[in-house]
Amino acid sequence: MAQPKYLTGDKAGIEEFLSRFDVFLFDCDGVLWSGDHIYDKVPETIEMLRSKGKQLVFVTNNSTKSRADYKKKFDKLGIPAEVDEVFGSSYSAAVYIARILKLPAPKNKVFVLGESGIEQELDAEGVQYVGGTDPAYRRDIEPEDFTNIANGKLLDPDVGVVLAGLDFHVNYLKMAIAFQYLQRGAIYLATNTDSTLPMAHGFFPGAGSAGAGVEKAIGRAPLSLGKPSQAMMDAIEGKFHFDRKRTCMVGDRLNTDIQFGIDGKLGGTLAVLTGVSKKQDFLTEGAPTVPTTYMDSIGDLMG
Ligand code: PLP
Ligand code: CA
Repeated sequence: MAQPKYLTGDKAGIEEFLSRFDVFLFDCDGVLWSGDHIYDKVPETIEMLRSKGKQLVFVTNNSTKSRADYKKKFDKLGIPAEVDEVFGSSYSAAVYIARILKLPAPKNKVFVLGESGIEQELDAEGVQYVGGTDPAYRRDIEPEDFTNIANGKLLDPDVGVVLAGLDFHVNYLKMAIAFQYLQRGAIYLATNTDSTLPMAHGFFPGAGSAGAGVEKAIGRAPLSLGKPSQAMMDAIEGKFHFDRKRTCMVGDRLNTDIQFGIDGKLGGTLAVLTGVSKKQDFLTEGAPTVPTTYMDSIGDLMG
């Protein structure tokens, strides 16, 4: 495996690097910001890339927010971006369900394990759903629920898909209902399967961990519509029509972002060291995921 190139703030190196790409797929958390803390020189870097005519797509695995929510976050932090440039895992899943699966009615409703970001994107794509943030599902399981799940009384007969994202209200009732739909043949999807959720205070269980109970029960993994799944890459390409060889994936996490770019056969992958993965994770002999280039922070592109 070739050693990744370390890109410092030297002008010639940056010019050469930028000249190789027309499109940059940007991971968000860990690259542009951490929580509500924006990294140094991010707005200037984004402006600079735009002024050079680069196309930017912001690709996030965070399914708890919709693209409209992300636009608000970009605005709040002063980063120039349009809703249409944001490609979140909840949007990715909604597009997959509405435009690729295209399930015929009536078996076309989605049971959502997740937050309002998923609901907003399903609404925008005209996909009906149950579960999600509905308080009827955010409660303890009662003895009679077991009977009513098994005999179908607590189920919606039109559900044909289970979609699992990070659900901050994960509970046994929803797990049992999701498992029942899957046993009855529902298609099993996930917005993303991140093991951990990095936050300012440390790591917490991610979407993949929160959904692991259902996955273990049914004994098979969901199709993920988030990084590093190529279903997401195909969906992005379907919308933006880019040349993969002239495209670079920028990210902080090797097993999601950088693997996403490698599997997608992109022209380059740029790891930044402001987030989850550290230099030794890819510079160590035999490291499974190695970017083509790395830098300390994205603001170093300003020289
Ligand atoms: N999932 C959730 C719920 C998050 O809050 C985050 C980061 O904020 C992520 C996933 C990872 O997002 P990204 O792909 O932008 O690093
Ligand atoms: Ca990230």
